[in-house]
Amino acid sequence: MTVEIISVGTEILLGNIVNTNAAYLAEKCAAIGLSCYYQEVVGDNEERLEGVLQTALERADVLLVSGGLGPTQDDLTKETAAKALGRKLILHEPSKAAIESFFQKKGIEITENNWKQAMVPEGCIVIDNQNGTAPGMIIEDKGRHVVLMPGPPNELIPMFEHAVMPYLNSLQPGIIYSQTVKVCGVGESKVEAMIKDLIDEQSNPTIATYAKTGEVHLRVTARAEGEKEAKKLVKPYVKELKGRFGNHVYTTQEDVTLEKAVVDLLLANHLTVSTVESCTGGMLAARLINVPGVSEVFKTGYITYSNKSKRKLLGIKKSSLEKHGAVSPEIAKEMAKGAALFGKADVTVGITGVAGPDGGSGEKPVGLVYIACNVCGRIDVKECHFGGSRMKIRESSVSAALSLMRESILAYYSEVTFGARK
Ligand code: ATP
Ligand code: MG
Repeated sequence: MTVEIISVGTEILLGNIVNTNAAYLAEKCAAIGLSCYYQEVVGDNEERLEGVLQTALERADVLLVSGGLGPTQDDLTKETAAKALGRKLILHEPSKAAIESFFQKKGIEITENNWKQAMVPEGCIVIDNQNGTAPGMIIEDKGRHVVLMPGPPNELIPMFEHAVMPYLNSLQPGIIYSQTVKVCGVGESKVEAMIKDLIDEQSNPTIATYAKTGEVHLRVTARAEGEKEAKKLVKPYVKELKGRFGNHVYTTQEDVTLEKAVVDLLLANHLTVSTVESCTGGMLAARLINVPGVSEVFKTGYITYSNKSKRKLLGIKKSSLEKHGAVSPEIAKEMAKGAALFGKADVTVGITGVAGPDGGSGEKPVGLVYIACNVCGRIDVKECHFGGSRMKIRESSVSAALSLMRESILAYYSEVTFGARK
């Protein structure tokens, strides 16, 4: 089944608001196996909206329309959809009562235009709005399904989860099951290249890639008669992806984040951790401390932003800083070593880099970041080149540090196992 997402609102066209509804709906549709080939944004203009609806009705099974259901003059989605489908608007008594009680509870006087929201296209399915006054609507017409939802995300999201998604699921045979393989330490384009053959041949299950900062999530989704059959379809693909990405797969569980995977690894191996951060200013420590149970392993988080603090808190020599510069693999290493010495932890991480927008040079450009990870005396150093804003560079540095922590801990234990290390 195909779906088309139509976002109504001049504010979106002008760039005054970001179209988060479309991104949300697109991701949800992919997860339940609906194919989306087109998305449109159209202003609060009857003629153009009608044109967009007519085009979408010709090529999609489901139209997901958001925005323009409010009480004001410029809210005309419902009126236009009714016109496009040749339906009359009629009063929906339960919606009228719901609007009345909504305003009563809030102690606000109802204005005349609010009753407009109780009018619905004849013969449609009306969806309750638990968080606002405009009800949602589903109009079924010649095998097509037109879903109208309010624009505010705090109204649209619960409405979609509770009513629209089950409805869309009921249109398709069987059930949907999906599992996510989360990969870190491999760039997005490399991930795509490594699974291009699987993507090209996909039908059921499908594989969708979602690029996050410093990680990529691969969602494998299958549709089958029952859960058992769907799981059976997904399993070999998850196994194949695990085989292709090896240690870079940090979890296949929905609720496990990269920082949780790192903390779990520390807990499982009884390893304590201290962090030393320069350009990330405590963001790595904050992400680790986000994980419940981290108190068992986290010892100290240093923010050594100035050279003086690197010397005072970590014992890094002035001559070393002068020779290599603060942003260098040597200083990243000394930061990690200093944290091991003064922070007394098994695993220590040092991050130093140029977050920009100023302060870069030909030799050390903005986005150059060195990360060192020490695991019980075994040290890895990684040189990274990140793009984007200061914030983006700092976030990318933290994700790369978490990936390096995993890699270094796993490498340390594989060397122990294979006898290279005593
Ligand atoms: P209202 O009753 O609030 O007028 P509505 O259904 O008429 O709701 P709009 O008037 O189109 O919706 O938008 C109301 C608000 O909802 C916008 O100001 C914006 O904050 C948010 N919104 C609308 N469309 C989107 C969208 N596509 N993505 C994110 N937010 C949106
Ligand atoms: Mg409105």
